Amino acid sequence: MHSLNDLVESFHLYAECERCQRSVQLDIEKLIVRLGGDFPITGVRDRLRCTSCNIRSQDVRIVFVGPPGKRVIFQYRR
Ligand SMILES: [Zn+2]
Repeated sequence: MHSLNDLVESFHLYAECERCQRSVQLDIEKLIVRLGGDFPITGVRDRLRCTSCNIRSQDVRIVFVGPPGKRVIFQYRR
């Protein structure tokens, strides 16, 4: 299982609403300040709520961007 600390260097996190397709990039560093670096990514999904639908229908998309200075483009869903 991934925690926020595992992702902060080389990944971007997006919340995507399954109903309205709204996509918002999450600020991992702010999440760490608020939730702690050991907080699991699966727990982040449980906390998300779409601000336009106001329902918990959000999926979390994790995008690998590579370490700073060595960005790549690769993404997958979980
Ligand atoms: Zn929505």
